[in-house]
Amino acid sequence: MLEGQIIIHVDMDAFYASVEMRDNKTLIDKPLIIGSMPNERGVVSTCNYEARKYGIRSGMNIKEAFNRCPKGVFMHPNFDKYIRVSNQLHEILESYTDRAEYIALDEGYLDLTGKVNSWEEARKIGHEIKKRVREELSLTCSVGLAYSKIAAKTASEEKKPDGYFEIPSREDFVTLVLDRNVKSLYTVGEKTAQKLHLYGVDTVRDLQNKSNEVKMFMGKQGEYLVDLAFGFDDRKVTPYREEDTKSISKEFTFQKDVSSFKLLDDVLFILSFRVAKRAKRLGLYGEGVSLKITYSNMKTITRSMLISASTSDAYTIYENASKLLKNVSKGEVRLVGTGLYHLREEEGRQLSFADIFSTQKDMLKEKIQSKWQEMSMYYKIDFDEIKDMQNSIKVYDYIERMREVMDSMQKYNS
Ligand SMILES: [Mg+2]
Repeated sequence: MLEGQIIIHVDMDAFYASVEMRDNKTLIDKPLIIGSMPNERGVVSTCNYEARKYGIRSGMNIKEAFNRCPKGVFMHPNFDKYIRVSNQLHEILESYTDRAEYIALDEGYLDLTGKVNSWEEARKIGHEIKKRVREELSLTCSVGLAYSKIAAKTASEEKKPDGYFEIPSREDFVTLVLDRNVKSLYTVGEKTAQKLHLYGVDTVRDLQNKSNEVKMFMGKQGEYLVDLAFGFDDRKVTPYREEDTKSISKEFTFQKDVSSFKLLDDVLFILSFRVAKRAKRLGLYGEGVSLKITYSNMKTITRSMLISASTSDAYTIYENASKLLKNVSKGEVRLVGTGLYHLREEEGRQLSFADIFSTQKDMLKEKIQSKWQEMSMYYKIDFDEIKDMQNSIKVYDYIERMREVMDSMQKYNS
């Protein structure tokens, strides 16, 4: 496996809250919570460091945040503004390299491999980015410089806020995270952490010690996690360009804007079958999955990620699009789409435990069936008629019906 990329990860500090404080100085010494209002349902999307003193965190239920700090200032996010600032940030970052990959409005990787002649030069760029963000945007960010993506992300988190940290080698990374919880490996979410706990794996060290069991029980995902635990991560920074025509995508515009991300996720599931069908017809496989969202204010964002083996499988497309969806800003949405890019003519093969016993196809089939079933029960719609994806008009008709059901449920609940 390759070692020794030179990657910078930049992460703005408490982004939404910092932008609001910058633009309204009276907010500076107050606990500021951006997200839903206390009388609405929803969560905290960002809060400033003052609010964090009360134990408030991103993702926390807004009612709990209110209970912890009733005197806090609660605000809805102002996405137009954040997108503007985000674009300014991108301009700064792209003055160093065109190989930039953004994973959120306020966060991205820069690939400096081959761009700089020394680590020292990369360090200079890291510090310069911080300086320019402070001077040009009047905001602070944290920068991590490292040999891989996961290490760069870990590094930027290390000295937050306004931090700078380096992790030059695999050994440095392992030493740093060895006794931390597995969740410190960013791809491990709550569910995976719970699963690992069942195998007696809580720390990165446990993951190293029980690598064989984890690989056996968790297949490809397990292999990936064990690699990370040993600091192996050769994922590349992958810029996504809209003008990249080597892609297949399907999108859907709703008759009325949608705020339910559950509905968007289910629509991505259906669109993934349309993408897969088209890819199969062309005999093409994609190395990356993309997500496109247009908000009600017509702002469009695209997100993308490379997958471990090229695919034209609908569920794989869906799973990755769904992951991307989880990381985009909430809001009213008018269009959602997904696609495959980096197309090639052969399927990527990666032998894994699951492949050897050829159980993977069955597992996928099961997942697909249970997803359809869950959706039938949720929307009280029988999807049998569209599962072959033959008739696109009918497919789109069903999506509108799902939206109407969701609409009436939301009305009923509010
Ligand atoms: Mg951030």
